[in-house]
Amino acid sequence: MRILVVEDEPKMAGLLRRGLVEEGYAVDVAANGTDGLWAAAENPYDAVLLDLMLPDVPGIDVCRQLRERGLRVPVLMLTARDAVPDRVAGLDAGADDYLTKPFAFSELFARLRALARRGPSERPPVLRVGNLALDPATRTVLRGSTRVELTAREFALLELLMQRPDEVLTRSRILEHVWDFAYDGDSNVVDVYIRYLREKIDRPFGRSSIETVRGSGYRLRPEPSDDAAHQA
Ligand code: CA
Repeated sequence: MRILVVEDEPKMAGLLRRGLVEEGYAVDVAANGTDGLWAAAENPYDAVLLDLMLPDVPGIDVCRQLRERGLRVPVLMLTARDAVPDRVAGLDAGADDYLTKPFAFSELFARLRALARRGPSERPPVLRVGNLALDPATRTVLRGSTRVELTAREFALLELLMQRPDEVLTRSRILEHVWDFAYDGDSNVVDVYIRYLREKIDRPFGRSSIETVRGSGYRLRPEPSDDAAHQA
């Protein structure tokens, strides 16, 4: 088992290296996010131990960039005990598990063994409607071959629409899926986000794939012109 440790604090990095080597792991250490990304792309690691507090590229971004580059190596994040938002962001960015500092080596080894058993994480399938493609793993959206940048909320809304093409989704159903329980505003927010989405995935491409179904809600349709546009 070969492990990459991405950790900037020399004392912590040294401690991890010694502990892992004693347990029989091969260990490389990267002292910042940039080196960590480079090493992870160049070498076949069985797992990456990723500290979230790094001096250059934040650990969350290191993880996201690994996934965007198609690297599916298991990632175990190291976070502060009370950093719940960090852990959530890390898991959303594609990390597989986390461990809070300070931790016991026995727990670290157990989690590494569990990750190794699981192997590289399964890649969720890319959603396609017409010439629109959404990749949940890398969180990218393409209209034809053009990449479209969406906010997290817009992405979640489009993902929902693409999971159910041709189906009319009511505002309340969309609210339920895309907004959390804490949201107690009115459903006009759905109309606002549909408008944002149209401005990004439809209007610049001369399309109108998101239909308003009067009195009901919205529906995403592959347009007949998609095939022709694709062949052109
Ligand atoms: Ca650190």
